[in-house]
Amino acid sequence: MGRFAASWGFIASVALLLAGCGGGAQSGVERVCSANTFIPNYVPQLRRLLYWERFPVTVYFERDENYSDYYRALALQGFDQWVNATGSVVRYVVVGTPDAAQIKVYFDPSTKDGLTTYSYYPSSGRLVSARVEIGTKGNNAVDIRSVAAHEFGHAIGIDGHSANPDDMMYPTYTPNVPLQITQSDLNTLKTAYCDYFIGRSRRAPHPAEEAPVEVTIVCPASP
Ligand SMILES: [Zn+2]
Repeated sequence: MGRFAASWGFIASVALLLAGCGGGAQSGVERVCSANTFIPNYVPQLRRLLYWERFPVTVYFERDENYSDYYRALALQGFDQWVNATGSVVRYVVVGTPDAAQIKVYFDPSTKDGLTTYSYYPSSGRLVSARVEIGTKGNNAVDIRSVAAHEFGHAIGIDGHSANPDDMMYPTYTPNVPLQITQSDLNTLKTAYCDYFIGRSRRAPHPAEEAPVEVTIVCPASP
């Protein structure tokens, strides 16, 4: 139920952003997609769409007692589903130190679920950092890969869930059935990044006094 609760706030922010939309070609005018740009999508069901200012984003895997190269390989396969689906508009680089990382990845053996926490500037939705937790309980390669792909979808800007069980960003999954990025998943992400698909990044200077806010999105798995 919670995933629908904040949709009005998102619609309000879309309405504000639409001021720069429509022309497309004017230099110096930020072009921002609306929920009607790429159909079908589930943008209206989200809490908000967020975005990174540019790709690649930097990813760091925390080397704690739950880390393994095997889990890392599975997680990267999940992340790569977004890279492939977007024609490498979404890209990441794995970095060796946490200091340089925008997205930090942890594995959690106590759950099969995932969790993403991120901070962003509320005026623009521009992401500052994200922490992704991938449940590895049960040690099922298909599920670990799927949870990683789903959480990466959050980490690159989809702040909410789809109501369609076929979508990658539906809040639960069926064990041992690989999650796929659907056209609605892709269109929803493209709505956050339409400039990137015409070869640009997005810049949104924030007020000097503005502090990022932090939110967490919890993704329950099926029992
Ligand atoms: Zn989720």
